[in-house]
Amino acid sequence: MRLQNIPPEYQRALPILKKIEHAGFEAYFVGGSVRDVLLQQPIHDVDIATSAFPAEIKEIFPRTVDVGIEHGTVLVLENDDKYEITTFRTESTYQDFRRPDHVEFVRSLEEDLKRRDFTINAFALKEDGEVIDLFSGLVDLENKVLRAVGDPHERFHEDALRMMRGLRFVSQLGFELDEETFDSILENHELLAKISVERITIEFVKLLLGKHRQQGLEMFVQTQCYLYCPELQNAKEALLRFANLTDKQIHKEVHAWVLLADQLGLSEGEIRPFLKSWKCSNDLIKKTQAVFAGLQFRKKAFFTKQLLYTLGEEQALLAEELLPYFDRTPQLEKVQQMYQELPIFSLRDLAITGHDLMTAFNQKPGKWLKDVLSACEEAVIDGKIENKKEKLLEFGRVFLAEY
Ligand code: ATP
Ligand code: MG
Repeated sequence: MRLQNIPPEYQRALPILKKIEHAGFEAYFVGGSVRDVLLQQPIHDVDIATSAFPAEIKEIFPRTVDVGIEHGTVLVLENDDKYEITTFRTESTYQDFRRPDHVEFVRSLEEDLKRRDFTINAFALKEDGEVIDLFSGLVDLENKVLRAVGDPHERFHEDALRMMRGLRFVSQLGFELDEETFDSILENHELLAKISVERITIEFVKLLLGKHRQQGLEMFVQTQCYLYCPELQNAKEALLRFANLTDKQIHKEVHAWVLLADQLGLSEGEIRPFLKSWKCSNDLIKKTQAVFAGLQFRKKAFFTKQLLYTLGEEQALLAEELLPYFDRTPQLEKVQQMYQELPIFSLRDLAITGHDLMTAFNQKPGKWLKDVLSACEEAVIDGKIENKKEKLLEFGRVFLAEY
């Protein structure tokens, strides 16, 4: 099959392929971008595979960076673009069900394509638009089937992460798992225990953000892969509920975690340990906690000024955006307006400082100071007093008299 319209991303990269071929080697577009072009979807990264060894690539191009030379990948800088060019390779002696313990550079495209995970990820596209399809990936694309290249059992033993990748492609593309591939994942799902949590998390998040999340989550449950993911051993029902929530696609990672935590029935305090087990960053954990808290409140009532102040505008809006998953209409503008009308946005905006209070009341710092400041903050946000120094001092005086 020959591609009629070569997309602009490939057009720009064609001179790279030509230069490599000029030097007497083969070069092709490979990987996910070829799949996406054939599916008429936008492409993100243009990967190039070549028979030239890394040293040979570096002789052809004046500007290169060794980004992963031990795996055969050289980054080529041409004009304003960057391309990862990877030497054809085979991956051998997988001893631990995860990544090869060594890669071998080869001159054969076929050897390179054979080590790829699924038939729809194992195309190569020639400079003239010819699609090289050694494993009937085009038929699988047409039938919307996700099939391991070669013997699925062997492929999942080589790298168990491929099972999670398979499930996330189901979710992203809405494809069915080929029967033999499905059976093999079910049979081998325990091998996921060998895979680092970080690699699993990347695929799981992509699964949750997929357009066909329902299908992806159902397969995640049916293949039993969930049993080997952090803290999901008892989550079968919750995952199926999540699958059936609505078919509205999730676009933000924080939303995915909040909805998952909600379906799992976690309390606010359980979110940190849960996300720690998935090795999420502290920033993401904090954000998830805040949005989760906002959502729980928002399911029952509209935000109060205090809560908006505590959450901050960004997090309040992120919580608001989740209402459609619960058949409610978000009121983003109302949230924004209410936030903008807050008299202060942080303690720094208060017309009084700790220093002012210590001087006025001639006292050393202590718990009292924090308590007065919090009380002032709260009263100002609620509009009980104006944010003016004299008013706040007077308020402080009364507060301390009763302290
Ligand atoms: P995405 O669109 O999300 O980037 P992708 O298919 O391009 O999906 P990448 O992780 O970018 O995924 O990998 C590029 C290509 O490398 C894949 O299409 C596949 O051919 C091959 N590949 C990646 N990971 C594996 C793996 N674990 N086992 C076998 N082949 C893999
Ligand atoms: Mg990719």
